Order: sequence, then C-alpha cells, then structure tokens
Amino acid sequence: MNDRIRRWMVAEDTFRVLVAHSTGTVARAADIAGTAPPVTSLYGRLLTGTTLFQLAQAPIFRVQCAIHHDGPAGVLLADVWPGPVLRGYVEDPRPANPQVLGNNPLLRLSRQLPQGAQIYESVVPLRSDNIADALQQYMAESEQVLTLFSLETTTDHRGQVLMSGGMIIQAMPDSKVQHLATVTSCLETTSFDALLRQGYHPFQAFETIFANADPHWLGDDPLEYRCRCSKHTAIRAVMALDPETLCGIRTSHGTEMVACNFCGQEYRVSAQDLPPED
Ligand SMILES: [Zn+2]
Repeated sequence: MNDRIRRWMVAEDTFRVLVAHSTGTVARAADIAGTAPPVTSLYGRLLTGTTLFQLAQAPIFRVQCAIHHDGPAGVLLADVWPGPVLRGYVEDPRPANPQVLGNNPLLRLSRQLPQGAQIYESVVPLRSDNIADALQQYMAESEQVLTLFSLETTTDHRGQVLMSGGMIIQAMPDSKVQHLATVTSCLETTSFDALLRQGYHPFQAFETIFANADPHWLGDDPLEYRCRCSKHTAIRAVMALDPETLCGIRTSHGTEMVACNFCGQEYRVSAQDLPPED
C-alpha cells in the first residue's frame, strides 16, 4: 500500500493544498467492514475527509467523525490518530435498502488528546451525502478558515475500490483577493472529483488543476489503516459490561469473546484476566 498525503503551496505561497491518495487504505477499510458498494463510496469519503481534516487542523489530536441518521446503514465512524493512522466502523455495512442514509443526517466531529482528555465536539447537517460540503461548513463556522474540500471514492460494479482521494485548499492569513482569484480560476477549469471519476490519480489531478498557480511541493505523509486494539482494550470492554454479567464471568471462571469493531480481531478474556474486585 502506497497511500500518502502530499502538501503543496500555491498562488505565491498564500494557499495550502493537501491531497490524499487513499485508495489502498479505503479498500482495506471496506474489506474489513464488508461494505456494500453504495456504502463503500460514502465510507471512503468519510475516512479520507476526516484524515485530511486531522492532518490540516488538529495533527496532535485524535479526531473522530461520525454520521448519525435513521437510515439502514446505521452509524458510520472514522477514527483518526496522529500519524495519521486511521480506522473506522460501519454499524450495518450491507443494508437491504440501496438508500444508505436516512432523514436529516448529521456529521458529528470530535477531537481529543490521544491520552483521552479535552473533548471538543461539533455537529453540522449533512445534505444528501455530501461530506465535503459538511466539513467545509464546519470549517467556516467553527474554525473561521476559508477551506475547500473535495472528496471522491469510486468503485467498480462489484464494489471494489478503483480510486479514492481527497483535497483540501486553505487560505493562509496573508492571502489577498488576487490570490483567491488565481485559485478560483484554477478550480473553474475542472473539478478534482470529476478527474478522479475519470481515473486520474489524486496527485495527477492536483497537478492538472493547479498547473498555472505556481505549485511548490512541501512534503509527504504516509497514510495507513491500523487498528489500536489489544488484549488490554478487550479487558476494559469486559469491565464495562453490566455488573451481573461481570459477576457471572468471575464466579463461573468463564470466558468472554470480545471482537474489535474496527478490525474484527477476537480476544478471549477469562476471569483471571480481570483485575481483582475492590
Ligand atoms: Zn481492532
């Protein structure tokens, strides 16, 4: 897997552009979750958009972005840790109804320090299934930074991921009207998601769009799907069970199988793994 996020400056270094190539990462995530084709595209855009947000806006934070709605797919969640390292979860990955989302879906975005402290949370409406627009609205309202998001995940007729990527464009504090005009004219020629649907690699799409905006390459960050579960987190999950069940495990010296929602790994937790009672 060679997924990366590449950073550039354009328009006399007054706009920052981050472009993610997330094809392998999203394919792995979709494979683990077992998503049906319409869910795969939505899930891929959620994972890619959350990762770009984390790297651009909150690189030392753990960022979670969830879609809440009353439709057949249930909750979709992206969980991105500093790195960026991502994982995700879909409540019902193969809904019977091709209409994946229900009415009035919401995007709930939260960030916390990896140690667990300090949670900031915001909710924005999700119109149809446009995650890029919802993240853009969040940035305008909560961060007051002019940011444009483009996200696309394409699949073949069997639901295999063909291409996945995303791009965010952010104005730096010293950008002026003429720089915005340069960026706008680049974006008017063609759109990032349309190029990806034509089979362009995300980096190639960036180069096509910003060829006349004096792009300067800043660097790359690797991107990977990796779960953080362990026997320790499985024991914590068992400890959170209701007191009656927990007592039953202790007294009968039973075992509890705990499956990780993010990667499917199973852990066997037995009575002797549990910390002693107070
Ligand atoms: Zn796991």
